[in-house]
Amino acid sequence: MSGDTAEEYLTRAVVFPLDPTPAQERLLWSYCGAARFTHNWALALVKDNLTLRTEQRESGAPEADLTPSQSWSAYSFNKEWNAAKDDVAPWWREVSMHAFRSGVTAAAAGLENFATSRKGTRKGRPVGFPRFKSRDRSKPSVTFVEINHQESWFEDPDVLQGRTSPHGHRIRLMLPQTTPDREVQRRRANLAWIHTTESTRRLARKVAAGASSIQKVTLSYTGGRWQASVLVRYLVAPVIRPTKRRAVGPMATIGIDAGITHLATTSRPVPGITDTHGHIANPWVLEKQRKRLAKLDRKLARCVPGSKNRAKVKRQRARLHGAITKTRALAIHATTNALADQFEVVAVEDLNVAGMATKKRHLGRALADAPMAELRRQLTYKTSDRGTTLVVVDRFYPSSKTCSVCGAVRAKLDLSVRVFECSTCGMTLDRDINAAINIEAEGRRLLEAKLESLQPPVPTQNVAGLRPETVNADPRTEKTEVLTGTAALAARRAEPRSRVTVAV
Ligand SMILES: [Zn+2]
Repeated sequence: MSGDTAEEYLTRAVVFPLDPTPAQERLLWSYCGAARFTHNWALALVKDNLTLRTEQRESGAPEADLTPSQSWSAYSFNKEWNAAKDDVAPWWREVSMHAFRSGVTAAAAGLENFATSRKGTRKGRPVGFPRFKSRDRSKPSVTFVEINHQESWFEDPDVLQGRTSPHGHRIRLMLPQTTPDREVQRRRANLAWIHTTESTRRLARKVAAGASSIQKVTLSYTGGRWQASVLVRYLVAPVIRPTKRRAVGPMATIGIDAGITHLATTSRPVPGITDTHGHIANPWVLEKQRKRLAKLDRKLARCVPGSKNRAKVKRQRARLHGAITKTRALAIHATTNALADQFEVVAVEDLNVAGMATKKRHLGRALADAPMAELRRQLTYKTSDRGTTLVVVDRFYPSSKTCSVCGAVRAKLDLSVRVFECSTCGMTLDRDINAAINIEAEGRRLLEAKLESLQPPVPTQNVAGLRPETVNADPRTEKTEVLTGTAALAARRAEPRSRVTVAV
């Protein structure tokens, strides 16, 4: 890419389901166990230090005489772990050092979240002091970070130099690590590659070409299966990729309202994804899956606690949950592809995902996690991929209480009222469609204001200096910014219109 365009980086997780051999599975469990062990070790270090200092303070010791406070950084945990491992974990040679690093990094991240939350510099819900991870309650996971040899996550150097053909269905379980022990070397070589059930080729190619880089790889046991979640950082082309189907002019913006009875409602019907009113059907799980889930729930309730059978049923249930999540994500992909393809600007309402989950609790936990959150996640990266814009309207904007015709705002509109009736102008419209129209208008207004603030029209070559808003897809950092791709849009607007629009 030439230097005269805005550069925007995004990160996103790409998930590959894994199919480990029994020996690999044992290894995975031991890695996750080691990561959990070091996480708890680091946390205990901090807790003991805090307790000690409190006791010293209470017994009247002057501040200068207190035991120094324990650093909360992953760097110092790592250093202290290396000094202490012979005593606290004499078995450490059995496990990859990356597992220990994963544990202390997780502890440091938890402490950091707690610290920033207490200081008020962290977005989202308040975060408490990190808790010890228990064997039963925590999700087994281990994170590998390797930035030096990007390509080697998927292929051996031989393959990369074209000497053998790529495998295409594997990912590294074991990072290259020097050990003098021949037996350990041999065992590691046997287990180094873990089979994926989906092709890694597309990502491997992008990484090899330098278009994407891998930040870290997390292996975890989720939904009754092992999976690898690869955090990828990639460059977003700020140049719009025209498609024949993309709408232009005033039709280029669409508003989307999060639904309860529907997945979402658009400000006007979109052929192929909505019904004739503009509703997008909820990607509800298959009736078959729903029945099986209820059956397993009853079965689980009858199991003897701690029994082998209970563990088996729990595993079956976790797998079904995984399948349900996947079914739904697949259904949502069709919708988000169409939206990101067909519109230049997509306006959505900001979500209170936590609030939505509680609202829907009666539907059962498997079904409760809001599909709208998945819709939003997909839209975020798909609009970026295509160089279009996602505008997020503030959650407190009264989209449902405002009349989309005359702008009158009603004081209250109960959720049970499905039709908006305006007492000022007499307009009557489906509640969700009315809200979607308002979101579209508000999105347009926000975008114009944003573009105005970037005035005078920015010539393309200057946009690079204007660090464009980015969205960080890592859910744990929750650094989602309000607008995406604005700078790109400003750049496009500054160009002759004919270059960016395509006749429909
Ligand atoms: Zn009205």
